[in-house]
Amino acid sequence: MSEKPIGIAVLGLGNVGTEVVRIIEESAADLEARIGAPLQLRGVGVRRVAKDRGVPVDLLTEDIEQLVSRDDVDIVVELMGPVEPARKAIMAALEQGKSVVTANKALMAQSTGELAQAAEKARVDLYFEAAVAGAIPVIRPLTQSLAGDSVVRVAGIVNGTTNYILSAMNDTGASYESALADASALGYAEADPTADVEGYDAAAKAAILASIAFHTRVTADDVYREGITKVSAEDFASAKALGCNIKLLAICERLVSGKGKQRVSARVYPALVPLDHPLASVNGAFNAVVVEAEAAGRLMFYGQGAGGAPTASAVMGDVVMAARNRVQGGRGPRESKYAKLPVASIGAIPTRYYVNMNVKDQPGVLSAVAAEFSRHEVSIAEVRQEGMTDAEGEPCGARIVVVTHQATDAALSETVEALADLDVVQKINSVLRMEGATS
Ligand code: NAP
Repeated sequence: MSEKPIGIAVLGLGNVGTEVVRIIEESAADLEARIGAPLQLRGVGVRRVAKDRGVPVDLLTEDIEQLVSRDDVDIVVELMGPVEPARKAIMAALEQGKSVVTANKALMAQSTGELAQAAEKARVDLYFEAAVAGAIPVIRPLTQSLAGDSVVRVAGIVNGTTNYILSAMNDTGASYESALADASALGYAEADPTADVEGYDAAAKAAILASIAFHTRVTADDVYREGITKVSAEDFASAKALGCNIKLLAICERLVSGKGKQRVSARVYPALVPLDHPLASVNGAFNAVVVEAEAAGRLMFYGQGAGGAPTASAVMGDVVMAARNRVQGGRGPRESKYAKLPVASIGAIPTRYYVNMNVKDQPGVLSAVAAEFSRHEVSIAEVRQEGMTDAEGEPCGARIVVVTHQATDAALSETVEALADLDVVQKINSVLRMEGATS
């Protein structure tokens, strides 16, 4: 092949960067054939060059700015995370006319606008397939394969750590604390698991998915978020009795009012999912995304949502696309934000609910509880009641689990407040949403 080589700079040589460099080196001949020009690694940016990293030391540099600015670098692959210095390096690359590939969800959920504008101005590619659900192709299907359809809903399990923890709780009956400890010991949870267990990571991905699916800029701050730290072993027992599993879901939806006004909802929370729903059986550290579109109907994407090699697969797909565009001329799809839909607040979102409470074991309790639901116009679909015993086996009240039909978050919150004030209600144990069931 006589085409001029495509120069590539990789920023970050951690879990993902190491695998990307390996693929560039080991698959050089195939990549050249697919791109139509050789891909040449010009340098790798790291924090500390001194480490023995399995990459020729003359390729390593701590001077990210200089590496990005090299005339022989055409594509910059950012794999450093978190927001800074990644944002600065990407902006510098775009401003100098380099195409950029990144796996940085935190950055893309916060600064898409700024980065997309810079890419637009320089007429270069900005790709980020690996930022959502690792190896699973979901950004490209949404931006390209479904470009002629209208997406209605995207719902996914997009965080492997929390899915691992919740799957363990479901399988073994373990408490949240014990499942988290196991996940940490096995390397599925970080030393500080906050970003995962409090839903921040999933919220960043929900923002990216909602922006693309609904042609509207949605940032992580627009996403309603609840984590999994309050989900209990008892919730799993009740979910099982109701024919459900519990999953941390990222949900992006296009809502249409009676008058035809459209809004976007983006939210992350643990929810009961009926066992016959495709997301209910996605277990362990796996991810899955279900997309519903008007013409296509329901599509499901499933696979490894993290890990060095799986994430590198998605990164390399973007690299090949960006390199082909440089060889053949032209660009991939630019940011599409024409719809500019408002983001709906969580209070207005209708879902089904599961409410678990301890009550006094006496006549009239059920009717008092039912009356509060009715007073707030929340319709009950199912009630389960069971007696409770104390440590000595003596009766000590009852547990009531109520599953509602669809209600707004606002109506349900008012109902729960009123229930907590009832004399007969000893404790509201938990309130979770139920998704994916017909109401
Ligand atoms: P990692 O293992 O922590 O590696 C980060 C790399 O970036 C290290 O080589 C580090 O250099 C380098 N780095 C960090 N700050 C730097 C700075 N200021 N200047 C120069 N180099 C710097 O991270 P990772 O797991 O590979 O993740 C990389 C990106 O991919 C993140 O945005 C992450 O969110 C995203 N991602 C990761 C996964 C996954 O499964 N790991 C999945 C999807 C997306 P040193 O080695 O010298 O410290």
